[in-house]
Amino acid sequence: MAHVISTECTSCGTCAEACPSEAISEGKSQFVIDAELCVDCGVCVDECPVEAISEE
Ligand code: SF4
Ligand code: SF4
Repeated sequence: MAHVISTECTSCGTCAEACPSEAISEGKSQFVIDAELCVDCGVCVDECPVEAISEE
């Protein structure tokens, strides 16, 4: 199961820069994770300042 970003996201972009597989991109109202590209490394979880990313 891929990691997901909640509506707490403030679109700061930090996670997208940290993701090693370029799975995170800016969506319409917040950043989103492409489940096909996410390898569940967990790097983004620690990078997010508002703890908006979790494993589901
Ligand atoms: S868990 Fe890893 S691969 Fe998946 S979105 Fe986060 S940083 Fe990218
Ligand atoms: S680091 Fe957190 S707040 Fe920033 S864009 Fe990623 S999910 Fe959103």
